[in-house]
Amino acid sequence: MSSMRRAKGPSPISIETNAMRIPCPYCGDRDFAEFVYRGDATVKRPDQSLSESAELATDYVYLRDNPAGPLEELWYHAQGCRNWLVVCRDTRTHTIASALLARDYSS
Ligand SMILES: [Zn+2]
Repeated sequence: MSSMRRAKGPSPISIETNAMRIPCPYCGDRDFAEFVYRGDATVKRPDQSLSESAELATDYVYLRDNPAGPLEELWYHAQGCRNWLVVCRDTRTHTIASALLARDYSS
């Protein structure tokens, strides 16, 4: 019997058991890894006819709030129905209050 036994340790593959699940209106509850995150769903493209539109455009592209609490976000179900969703997620707990198709969303 060899004295060169392998020590038993944790598996090199880690499985996240409480990963965030997103309730897709089309597909049902799905793992968040099936989705692509696209950020805040509430920002609006500025009116290009305004004199300060260049500054507003810069803010639109680069500046985002980072609230601690509920936030409406865009998620794309890339490995599912390929719909855009607006998901209301608490950024502190990852609790999802609602998810609806983006085409049905009105802010
Ligand atoms: Zn879906």
